[in-house]
Amino acid sequence: MQALMMKSQLMISNILKHAEKNYPLREIVSVTADNPRHRYTYKDFAVRSRQLANALNSIGAQFGDRIGTLAWNDYRHLELYYAISGSGMVCHTINPKLFPEQVTYIINHAEDRFIFVDVLVMPLIEALAPQLSNVEAFIVLTNKANMPETNLENVLCYEELIADKSSEFEWPEFDENTASGMCYTSGTTGNPKGVVYSHRSTLLHAFAGALPDVTNSSSRETCLPVVPMFHVNAWGLPFGTIMTGTKLVMPGPKMGDGETLQNLIESEQVTFSSGVPTIWLALLDYLDKSAKKIPTLHKVSVGGAACPRTIIERFKHNYDTMVYQGWGMTETSPLGTIFGLQPGMEDYTDEQITDLQAMQGRGVFGIEMRIVDEDNNELPWDGVAFGALKVRGPWVVSGYYGMSQIPGEEGCPVDEMGWFETGDVATINPLGYMQITDRTKDVIKSGGEWVSSIDIENAAVSHPGIAEAAAIGRYHPKWTERPLLIAVRKGDKQTTSAEVLAFLTDKLHKWSMPDDVVFVDELPHTATGKLNKLALRKTFEDYQFP
Ligand code: ADP
Repeated sequence: MQALMMKSQLMISNILKHAEKNYPLREIVSVTADNPRHRYTYKDFAVRSRQLANALNSIGAQFGDRIGTLAWNDYRHLELYYAISGSGMVCHTINPKLFPEQVTYIINHAEDRFIFVDVLVMPLIEALAPQLSNVEAFIVLTNKANMPETNLENVLCYEELIADKSSEFEWPEFDENTASGMCYTSGTTGNPKGVVYSHRSTLLHAFAGALPDVTNSSSRETCLPVVPMFHVNAWGLPFGTIMTGTKLVMPGPKMGDGETLQNLIESEQVTFSSGVPTIWLALLDYLDKSAKKIPTLHKVSVGGAACPRTIIERFKHNYDTMVYQGWGMTETSPLGTIFGLQPGMEDYTDEQITDLQAMQGRGVFGIEMRIVDEDNNELPWDGVAFGALKVRGPWVVSGYYGMSQIPGEEGCPVDEMGWFETGDVATINPLGYMQITDRTKDVIKSGGEWVSSIDIENAAVSHPGIAEAAAIGRYHPKWTERPLLIAVRKGDKQTTSAEVLAFLTDKLHKWSMPDDVVFVDELPHTATGKLNKLALRKTFEDYQFP
């Protein structure tokens, strides 16, 4: 029997239409290269997005075209999100911090016809332009007065482009499975791979993200997304917040700057913020130094990498701010799991709650999870067994752009049973809390045991003389692999290997103890700031344990 419900399509433009009617006076505040504090209303945002849609038409952009953005978190980037997707084109966000050859590869692979670029990213575009044969024009995200000098010919000014365009535009309705956005995963091996989001996946993800146990978005909240809009759509915040009338505060290029973040939080009364761990270390260090406060900020969601306990504790004890750790990937839009307390936990000690916050959280509705052993047998949710983490759901990729879409086939990240292989290794406890223990390729296989490199690193960085640490498996004649700890000393401390090993003894299982500790001046990182273990394994290729 067929249902008798309307078949309205889930369209990103519907968020904008709803927001304009229901929250016209809510504010969007931005820091940009040309204005330290730009502010306007949802109404202004909707009007300018329609002008931009007309401008896209005027330059010849068409349904299905990929339109690239190289931009920070601000109102113009938000207009691009809505006008490009709302018109049926694909908003292709590009990370300007990637290696230049990766940026070139991504733009050419996606066949972007137009690129919208922040003033600060112009030098990169000028260097790459000769290799970007598909790109017809570069539109600089600024006004006439602030247009940079450039030798490029096909350059337009954003404000000039939209200034004379009509604010009347009828957002088209089309199949909700149409591509709305695109984001390439940086990947440490091989070329970046394109993840293509749809209107449907984006809307369902926005609903889930706005739920009380996720971000609790509403028109009573003020959100500061510190996670970049070029990194998995700023974790979906530009959709869930606008849908619910949340005031948005956008930090522009000043994302890693503790002073700017504190200032925005205090002056705009931010209640909720999101970002990767390093951002929060910068903020917490600034707060310690300046004795400034963040009184309204009651919730911070942290993801992208394991959140160190010290971030959780410093926020909770010094600022009464709760850390909600979440886990996700570019391939999962990214929302997969997030921390939350449950009834029955009222008597938990502060330590027990921190233990939970240090895990990656519970699955949000829409995401199914499983862990499996090497033969793909499902493992129990007992908090002990750990195996490869697989997920599925309506906002999880079914394949990468231009690669095989056939489950189980080379290049397709989905197995024959329809589960996406995350490349992470995890445990899940009986209450559903998941904990990432490693990346599949980083796990150290010592004899029959899997040793978590993350456990070793977390224990090592709690030593006062260690600034950063990485554990990798190196060849061992008896055990096949044993852990080698590579560490960076803190400041001018003269920490020794023997001290570190003694310090770790009561923190790690015997089989997880590193066989050796070596010190280096710095560790290699990927463009997204994660430890580059591939590079480390290369550097220590010929290493032999003493
Ligand atoms: P990339 O794949 O380009 O590195 P992603 O942001 O997609 O960028 O990275 C996803 C990966 O980041 C996950 O597979 C996982 O390994 C790691 N990750 C994300 N969130 C967490 C977290 N809370 N704790 C530990 N690791 C995390």
